[in-house]
Amino acid sequence: MRKVVKFGGSSLASAEQFIKVGNIIRADKERAFVVPSAPGKRYSSDTKVTDMLYGCYALAEAGKDFKKELKAIKDRYQEIIDGLKLELSLEEEFKVIEKNFKEKAGSNYAASRGEYLNGIIMAKYLGYEFIDAAEVIFFNEEGEFDAELTNQVLSDRLAKCNNAVVPGFYGAYANGKVKTFSRGGSDITGSIVAKAIKADVYENWTDVSGFLIADPRIIENPQAIEVITYRELRELAYMGATVLHEDAIFPVRQQGIPINIRNTNRPDDNGTWIVGSTCQKSKYVITGIAGKKGFCAINIEKDMMNSEIGFGRKVLQSFEENGISFEHVPSGIDTMTVFVHQDEFMHKEQKVVAGLHRLANPDSIDIESDLALIAVVGRGMKSTRGTAGRIFAALAHANVNVKMIDQGSSELNIIIGVKDEDFETAIKAIYDIFVVAQL
Ligand code: ASP
Repeated sequence: MRKVVKFGGSSLASAEQFIKVGNIIRADKERAFVVPSAPGKRYSSDTKVTDMLYGCYALAEAGKDFKKELKAIKDRYQEIIDGLKLELSLEEEFKVIEKNFKEKAGSNYAASRGEYLNGIIMAKYLGYEFIDAAEVIFFNEEGEFDAELTNQVLSDRLAKCNNAVVPGFYGAYANGKVKTFSRGGSDITGSIVAKAIKADVYENWTDVSGFLIADPRIIENPQAIEVITYRELRELAYMGATVLHEDAIFPVRQQGIPINIRNTNRPDDNGTWIVGSTCQKSKYVITGIAGKKGFCAINIEKDMMNSEIGFGRKVLQSFEENGISFEHVPSGIDTMTVFVHQDEFMHKEQKVVAGLHRLANPDSIDIESDLALIAVVGRGMKSTRGTAGRIFAALAHANVNVKMIDQGSSELNIIIGVKDEDFETAIKAIYDIFVVAQL
């Protein structure tokens, strides 16, 4: 068994946290490949090292003095080194960083130093080999992640070592110029490393005991999900649930490597297993609830619409011409509604409407804003009767008016449109009926 273990910023924010991480890794010799993030927040008002680096580099780029800011970053690492009693100096590394900042090496380079330096400390602390991600993770000229080249180089390199630390979040173009993934991208690195060594498990260590059924800002102490499939996770992540970077599932999904989300501060908790498929039923019929506010619904009416071939295409063409992606398109006999993100749509509204008139010649167009979409996701819905009935009874009971319903034929999710102001009430009502009622 070989495991890849990725630790997030809060798990590595201080020497104290590093010690917990060291104990976790040493407790299981299969934890042979480690992907660290940069040091995160030690307390809620603290600043992540990544953000300190962006701030410091912005000064450098503007030609301003950045010594004080760079020193503050250096102090964060020194505090960790001292706390771990390591014989390690980052003096030379910081000289190089200062020089590169002065030469305007770019904000990607700047941000990547957070993981790079933490990787050096981690490797020293564990006695593992350090592998610079810029030498093994690649981006093509368009700036897209080059999965093929990366997998080839990385798997060759990792085959030569028993254990190693590969810093998260960044890689490089073919010419060596550093490029980062989007924020939270160390999750992607972990997944890439897991794929390259064909790991049995990708453990992703964070500060919560797994993926929660609903947003803890809306539901107090929600239950954690024990097992979730990649597809379910994708639906929930798309609708705004966070824990893992959205793109992190792709590399491991291809290989069927499970991801285990774990809590560094409660290492005995099982956390959440993210798997390809499972015969394990979810405890509560639904696996999770997520949602987003800020949608607009464009309601288009035309008599005899249903018999007009190509009407739907013409409607969507107007959105396409204006570069707007649509979320859902529920339709009736003589009506069709297009759900879009309000912030994308707002400034192009009149252009889209003009396009609709020109292309589809509707009888009327009506726009409704400030809507929210809620996804109720669960592989268990397929084999359970009455799920939709329970959802809508709960919403009616909570006095929430349902604006839209969309159930995919996969029966994996039900999407519900409500007014923004009813969003929290609706999520609470759904959580109560499926989870609280069964506790
Ligand atoms: N340190 C980076 C960030 O704050 C990447 C990561 O932690 O995954 O976004």
